[in-house]
Amino acid sequence: MDLTFQERTALVTGAGRGIGKAIAETLAESGVNVICVSKSEASCGAVAEGIRERGGRASARAVDVSDGKAVAEASAELLAEHETIDILVNNAGITRDGLMLRMSDEAWHEVLNTNLSSCFYWIKGVVRPMTRKRWGRVVNISSVVGLMGNAGQLNYSAAKAGIFGLTKSLAKELASRSVTCNAVAPGFINTDMTSALDEDVSKEIASRVPLKRLGEARDVAKMTAYLCSEEAGYITGQVFTVDGGLVM
Ligand code: NAP
Repeated sequence: MDLTFQERTALVTGAGRGIGKAIAETLAESGVNVICVSKSEASCGAVAEGIRERGGRASARAVDVSDGKAVAEASAELLAEHETIDILVNNAGITRDGLMLRMSDEAWHEVLNTNLSSCFYWIKGVVRPMTRKRWGRVVNISSVVGLMGNAGQLNYSAAKAGIFGLTKSLAKELASRSVTCNAVAPGFINTDMTSALDEDVSKEIASRVPLKRLGEARDVAKMTAYLCSEEAGYITGQVFTVDGGLVM
């Protein structure tokens, strides 16, 4: 099915690599004007340039999503530049793994700020015009570890579980304005984040996945693009796993 987008502009965080890059490219292929955000100018700039070279519409902006002030400033400037932002995909994320007894306060706060507080900052920054326009889409990228927990990822799984509560509450607040808010929970996906795992661990993980492989960034991007489309207007407050059957 071809997805429909009526002259929409999307902002995708963490669009410089991995899942966010695939989401930005998938939306652009459907005609969406995409604002690619990442920490470094180089990575989001290269993705936006690639989209433009293929005939799509994209621009780039380096913003540290864990910094509420920086996100507020960027949101105001981007809303002034683009008439409106219709779609927000909160995808930027990091891991700082370690067992609870050895986890530093810094690792806790860095992961909570980057993965969870960032969603709140961007929502505050860009959602108001969606409510006025009576159309909007917010998709927050969580993780299956937010559902299952994971030893060594207390910070990350807490942040990803927090996304579920934020998503459902926002969906309830904004439903009367036809702004939907959903979460996508990927399983193990082949990106820079998982390439840090050694080969044995990666094989062991794949053996636990009913579909017997790690997923690809495009698998997550297709689900996300659907939730952003005109077609998904009656879906809100939900969590969609894209995990090869890991959680069932
Ligand atoms: P990735 O390849 O490591 O890419 C992360 C992206 O986030 C990069 O573009 C990075 O920017 C950006 N980012 C990180 N910290 C940032 C900050 N403070 N400010 C702005 N941008 C920042 O990650 P991924 O594997 O694609 O993961 C994307 C999302 O999916 C994350 O939320 C992750 O938790 C979630 N997820 C991933 C998996 C998986 O198996 N890969 C599974 C479940 C959930 P730069 O390019 O500038 O460095």
